Amino acid sequence: MEHSPHVLAALTMQQLIARGLAPTPENFARTYYEISIKPVPALVPDTRQLLESAPCAELTQALHSLVNDAFGVTDRLSTKLSNTWRAMDANAEALRQSRLPDETLRQVVTLLAHASGLMDIIETSREELEQSRQALRQMEGKLAETTRELGVDALTNTLNRRGLSNCLSREIARAKRHQDKLSVIMADLDNFKRINDSHGHEAGDRMIVHFAQLIRFVIRDADYVARFGGEEFVLILPEADQVHAEMVALRLQTILAKTPLLYEDNEISVTFSAGIAEYRDNEEGAEMLRRADTALYAAKAAGRDCFRLAQ
Ligand code: GH3
Ligand code: MG
Ligand code: MG
Repeated sequence: MEHSPHVLAALTMQQLIARGLAPTPENFARTYYEISIKPVPALVPDTRQLLESAPCAELTQALHSLVNDAFGVTDRLSTKLSNTWRAMDANAEALRQSRLPDETLRQVVTLLAHASGLMDIIETSREELEQSRQALRQMEGKLAETTRELGVDALTNTLNRRGLSNCLSREIARAKRHQDKLSVIMADLDNFKRINDSHGHEAGDRMIVHFAQLIRFVIRDADYVARFGGEEFVLILPEADQVHAEMVALRLQTILAKTPLLYEDNEISVTFSAGIAEYRDNEEGAEMLRRADTALYAAKAAGRDCFRLAQ
């Protein structure tokens, strides 16, 4: 995804702060360059494995035959049309040359037969194309279903709740095995309804995508982000204790404050509140999320635009 220069500049400043570098022209230029060529980190784990999984393979196969069918229809249509067109052309020429009433009548009858043939060709193709259209509609539904099954949120391309649950269980198991730290941040945009109400639902959607993108910039490649609900996200931070998680939340707060959403010539600013929970021995993912949610609620109650640590 490409960013406008002023967004890149804000991201650059945020990186300089995060790395503790002085904002000298050299540091700024080097970091700006790094950010502008940095690919968006992959947020969906094991993408290759996912693509080769049964539901994806089935979809690819179905899409392949659908495209082949559609090509078949257009190919047949084009061949039949050009053959008929050539015949009608010869017909019209013969009509122009004909001098005798019988001959003229014969050519007119033939032309009418061709014209009716054309109608048949178009009608058949229309039916075939309609079938393709219906198949495509079914495929759209299946695609959305498969995306959900794969644990991905279609709007933001982050994990969905299902993906979050799988990922958190996996990371908890890993933390237990290696006696590592693990933290989650539950972040919810403040007064988001106002954005929908003042700028429209489309602007709201764009803000959700914008927020997800900024989260990507403040987390490490090994971290995960999931869309938990409408404008609520969960960040999973392996090997991170509460202090590290707080730093991530602070970085997100800084970058969000400096990077308003540009929408139809408007700059729309927003803040978020968050609850932070560090993994406790033997707790389940659901319990960890519940603690983070309670802390988020406390942050909202404290006036928003802040974060609270879970008890
Ligand atoms: P608070 O600070 O308490 O979080 O206030 P809020 O206005 O953000 O309230 P809340 O989180 O309860 O409501 C979020 C609203 O977001 C409700 C719903 O209308 C809207 N919403 C939910 N999902 C979507 C979405 O996918 N797109 C858009 N544009 N809006 C959504
Ligand atoms: Mg909200
Ligand atoms: Mg919410």
